[in-house]
Amino acid sequence: MIATALAMSRSGLSPGRSGNVSCRWNDGMLITPSGMAYEETKPRDIVFVDGDGNVPDAKARKPSSEWRFHLAAYRGRADIGAMVHTHSLHATVLACAHKSIPPFHYMIAVAGGKDIPLVPYDTFGTDQLADYVQAGLAERDACLMANHGQIAVGRDLSSALELAHEVEVLSTQYAKLLTIGEPHLLTDDEMERVLERFKTYRQNAQGS
Ligand code: 13P
Ligand code: ZN
Repeated sequence: MIATALAMSRSGLSPGRSGNVSCRWNDGMLITPSGMAYEETKPRDIVFVDGDGNVPDAKARKPSSEWRFHLAAYRGRADIGAMVHTHSLHATVLACAHKSIPPFHYMIAVAGGKDIPLVPYDTFGTDQLADYVQAGLAERDACLMANHGQIAVGRDLSSALELAHEVEVLSTQYAKLLTIGEPHLLTDDEMERVLERFKTYRQNAQGS
């Protein structure tokens, strides 16, 4: 958890104390503490939140203000084990313009579908935001959050962090593209083919 939070912070993916990291643990999750500088965060500062949203350890730090959307995502997706939320620059720029990312590049498929959706705005830490995030991640491994940032999930911490980087790269490309002209989007059929190929793309997948 600490290594992932530090890597997120040191790579510039989430400025200052912004962002948070969690992984599934027992019936709940481990999550970064609220408002702590990542460089100062020690293993004992990581908070266990149980499946009902309670913190059983009375001496524990205050969990991330976003524990509700992290827990909601684990409830909605039995297949995921970790989650990274960041305010990465270009993802946040697009999210503040209320733009989702269409299939301008085939790598959009890395998030599991034909686009990277935008979930509506609500105040950070609210149940409403948790509902929006749960819906946004139901069929994708990443989403943008209006006027806020981005979220990436994965089977483990390193895949969630890798995807958050990928979302930032795609956001950078798309934001630049919008400044020079009309994007040429890939068709639905082409994205079907790409998604099919992605099933066997990596070394640990079957086939080639
Ligand atoms: P926390 O420090 O409470 O995790 O909040 C950071 C953040 O990005 C809220 O959306
Ligand atoms: Zn945030």
